[in-house]
Amino acid sequence: MRRPIVAGNWKMHGSRAENARLIEELLAGAPATPKATCLVCPPFVYLLEASRQLRDSSISLGGQDVCADTQGAFTGEISSAMLKDVGCEYVIVGHSERRLLYRESDQLVARKFGAALSKGLIPILCVGEQLADREAGRTREVVARQLDVVLELCGATGLEQAVVAYEPVWAIGTGRNAAPEQAQEVHAYIRARIGARDARIAAATRILYGGSVKAGNAAELFAMPDVDGGLIGGASLKADEFLTILAAAGPA
Ligand code: PEP
Repeated sequence: MRRPIVAGNWKMHGSRAENARLIEELLAGAPATPKATCLVCPPFVYLLEASRQLRDSSISLGGQDVCADTQGAFTGEISSAMLKDVGCEYVIVGHSERRLLYRESDQLVARKFGAALSKGLIPILCVGEQLADREAGRTREVVARQLDVVLELCGATGLEQAVVAYEPVWAIGTGRNAAPEQAQEVHAYIRARIGARDARIAAATRILYGGSVKAGNAAELFAMPDVDGGLIGGASLKADEFLTILAAAGPA
C-alpha cells in the first residue's frame, strides 16, 4: 500500500516570525503518528531554523529547488548536499514556476532530479500541462515528455526513491482545481508510463496531485485510486487548512 504524502510548498512567502508561528501551529495540530507523510518546503534561507523547530517531530522538511551540479562556481545556487546538511529529506524539482519563469528545460529538471538522488534526497518531480496544451488535447504528450527525460537519465529505478506530482499549470494558484476524474486520468497515465518500464516501481510510486487543493476539495481528490496525496501551495500557509488536508490524506 502506498503511504500518502501531503507536502506544503511555501514558495516565496513568510518571514522568520511567521514561519515559526506556522510551524508551531502545525506541530500543535498534527497527529503524533499521522497516516500520511507530512512535509513543508520553506524558502532556502529559513530551512535551518525550520529544521531545528521540526526536529523529532512527525513533519519532514524539503527544499523548493536544487542545483543540478554538486559544487563549485554556481553563484546563487544551493546543492543537494547543502539541503541534506540542513535537514532536508525532500526537494521539489521542475515546479512549473521554475520551468516557466526561469526557463528550466526538461533536461535541466532531470539533472536536478539526479543530483537530488545522488545525495539521498527524495525528489518530488513536478509535471503538468498548461491550459493551451489541455485544450489542444496534448496533456498526455506534455506529461510523457517531462517524465520520459527523467526516466531516460535516471531509469525507472530513479523513481524508486522519488515522488511524482501532477500539477496542471492552469490549476496552480487559480482556485480552479482539476476535477478528481481529470486528475485520476492523468495519474493513471503517469503510472502506466512508468509501468511500461517497471511495473513494480510504478505500483509503488507516490503520485501527488497539486493545483488549488484546499480543505474543501482534498478528500474527493485523494479518494481517487491513483492520487496518493497532494502538493499544496496557497493552502499550506494556513495551519488549520493544511492540517485538514493532511487528515484527508490518511488511508480510509
Ligand atoms: C503549487 O504551487 O505547487 C500549488 C499546487 O499551488 P496551489 O496549491 O496554490 O495551487
